[in-house]
Amino acid sequence: MHSPTEELQHLVNVIAASVAIVEQKKNRSGKAKQFRVVAHNELFLRMLGKKNDKPASEVQKNCLLDSLTSTSVSCVFHTYLPRVFSSLEPIEIEQTFELSSESPWWRLFLNPMESMPSQPQRVMIIGIHMSDKHKLQQEVNNANSRYSSLIDAAFDAIITMDDKQNIQFFNHAAENIFGYSADEVIGKSITKLMQKKFRPNHSDYIKQFEDSDIQSRDMSSRVMIMAVKKDNTEFPVEITISKILVNGKIEFTAIIRDISNRIAFIEKLQHQVNTDNLTGLYNRNYFDSKLKDIYHQYKRFGHSFCVLMLDLDRFKMVNDSYGHLIGDKVLQKFSKKAQQVLREVDLLARFGGEEFIVLLPNTKLEAAKDVANRIRKCISKQMVLSQNHEPVTFTVSIGVAEIGTDDEPESIIKLADEALYRAKNSGRNRVSD
Ligand code: GH3
Ligand code: MG
Ligand code: MG
Repeated sequence: MHSPTEELQHLVNVIAASVAIVEQKKNRSGKAKQFRVVAHNELFLRMLGKKNDKPASEVQKNCLLDSLTSTSVSCVFHTYLPRVFSSLEPIEIEQTFELSSESPWWRLFLNPMESMPSQPQRVMIIGIHMSDKHKLQQEVNNANSRYSSLIDAAFDAIITMDDKQNIQFFNHAAENIFGYSADEVIGKSITKLMQKKFRPNHSDYIKQFEDSDIQSRDMSSRVMIMAVKKDNTEFPVEITISKILVNGKIEFTAIIRDISNRIAFIEKLQHQVNTDNLTGLYNRNYFDSKLKDIYHQYKRFGHSFCVLMLDLDRFKMVNDSYGHLIGDKVLQKFSKKAQQVLREVDLLARFGGEEFIVLLPNTKLEAAKDVANRIRKCISKQMVLSQNHEPVTFTVSIGVAEIGTDDEPESIIKLADEALYRAKNSGRNRVSD
């Protein structure tokens, strides 16, 4: 026959958690200062950091809890046990015990036990080892914070959407780029950030991507995509979209880069390549490419076009008489005024020096001569002031040529040049016949 305490001890020994049953030990004044361990298993001793090779049964029974462990560990019990004894309500806590070589985590259940009126109240302490879970959690937390700081420091907007294209995540860069706070867009459709014309086709596009084997796709290869800010301004973006399966559902992550600066830089370079610094007109390089385009149109559709070759008369004399700076002013004034005579579809370019060229799309020879004469007359009424405030006037001679069936882009320039030569020879300030 075992004593009830021995039976308790037998019971706790077979539980695969650390278990102890404690009573309060009152001091003379009736206050509970100590806890007497009525029964405990080996795992309980290990939880308290007691490296005792002896089996639990050999450890002194009915010993004090404080004697089994360090002050810092017993402190935990002194904090919670009195509450359980007084309220008779169970308490569940997660607690780390600072032991000499490690700080394991335990989940502690402090359960008041049913007791006979004659028996002192007892509390069962159950400890379940949590360290692995905590370590795992810690690793997850570390990974999460590493991930979040990467995402937050990212230069690009990173936006996650669910399978219905509603925004789930919006990083700091996205807030800066689009002008929305994350709270304003989370749960809303991603189409909010797109130009209206792209919105209707977006879900088809995403569906196609969802069903494809491709995991990530560069959307910029399609067209230059314009995104829309909160204030409705549009800006060019480069987008890479990828999909991942989260809990059986497809999620999309878009990495969006604001390429306004890059586009502005490219445009600036293009402008520099295509324009003349002094006059701001297109240069010969640009003219040649447009001439080729219009020539192809002519070949395909038969739309006739004309070329005017313009050359300032006796311009050398302007330079010689008033200096190069005044010559430059004349070139600028000429450009501005000639441009004003022309239609928007016409192209005026500086061909080099004091020579200019005009492309007149959809124009026959006679109409081109009229345009040339309007330019000539307009220019003959212009003047700039010399450094001594004297008026400096100037004139222009113009050769006109119309594209013919046997012509090539180069040959029409030659024709216009020959016409200019005739205009010069017939007295200057003339348009070729
Ligand atoms: P013509 O009526 O036969 O065309 O006589 P012209 O004096 O205009 O012709 P010429 O070819 O002898 O001289 C052209 C002058 O244009 C010479 C050159 O110094 C000047 N010129 C060319 N480019 C510029 C420029 O960018 N600025 C200034 N100020 N002068 C230029
Ligand atoms: Mg010349
Ligand atoms: Mg000249």
